[in-house]
Amino acid sequence: MINSNKFDHILYTDASKNENSVSCSVTTLHNTIAKHLLPSHCSVHTGELYGILTAVNTITNTNKTVAICTDSLSSIHSINNIYTQNPLAQNIQETCHALASQNISVSILWVPSHVGIIGNERADQAAKEALNSDLTVKEVQLYKDLKNTLKQITTNKWQNLWNQSNTKLQSIQPTINVNNLPPMNRRDKIKIRRLRIGHTRATHGYVMESGNPTLCEHCNCQLSVKHFLSECPQYNVARQRHNITGDTKEDLNPSSNLNNIINYLKDIKLYSYI
Ligand SMILES: [Zn+2]
Repeated sequence: MINSNKFDHILYTDASKNENSVSCSVTTLHNTIAKHLLPSHCSVHTGELYGILTAVNTITNTNKTVAICTDSLSSIHSINNIYTQNPLAQNIQETCHALASQNISVSILWVPSHVGIIGNERADQAAKEALNSDLTVKEVQLYKDLKNTLKQITTNKWQNLWNQSNTKLQSIQPTINVNNLPPMNRRDKIKIRRLRIGHTRATHGYVMESGNPTLCEHCNCQLSVKHFLSECPQYNVARQRHNITGDTKEDLNPSSNLNNIINYLKDIKLYSYI
C-alpha cells in the first residue's frame, strides 16, 4: 500500500496494448488526467515510459512530494539507468532533475498490477479506453520501435514470398521464423535445420561431388528427406519406435519432441549423414 502521508500528490500511470495500438494514461485516485493513443509501431515499454513522462510534465510547484506509480519494472530500470539511451527515459530524468531544483521531489514507485490498488485500476481502465480513441500522439518515434516494426514488415514480406514459392523446402518449413528451435545441442540443431530445408549430406552430397543422385538402398528411388522420414517402408518399425508420425511438417515442428527425430536418425544410422 502506498503511504499517502508521505506524498502530497500521487499519480498513477499505465499503458495498454492490443493488436493494432498502444496507449497510456495518467490518473489520480479519482480523476483521469491524460490519456494518449500512440503510433501503432510503439512497444508497450514506450507506452509505459510515455505515460510516466506525461505524468512528470503535469507536476506543478503546488506539490512538493509527488509519487508516480507504475506497474512497469522495466520502465523504472530504464529511468534509474543514468546511461540509458532511451530518449523518453532521458527526458523523464531531465524533467525530474529540473523539478528537484525547484525543491519538488518525484518518486517513481513500482506497484504490482491487478492487486486491487484503486488508482492503478483507474489508470489501467483509462489506458484501455484510449486504445479506442483518436488521441494519437505523433512524435513518439523511437529507434528501437521502428527497428522492430521494420523487422516485422520484412518478415511478413518474406513470408508472403515464401508462401508463393513452390519448392519442396516450403512444404517442410511453411513458416518463416528465424530462431524457433527449442533448447538442444548445437549439433542436433544443425541436423534439424538441414532436415527442415530438405538439404542434407545424404540427399544432396552428390551435387557437391558432381555425381548421380543418391538412391534409397532399399527402394531404389531418389533419396529425399521426406523419403527417409516418412515414406521408406524399411524404417516403418523404427518410426513407430520413436513416435515419428510420418507427417514431416508435424515431426519437424518446433513444438513437437525433436529428440524423437534425432533418436530415429541415430537408430536408422543416418545421423552422421545429415
Ligand atoms: Zn526407401
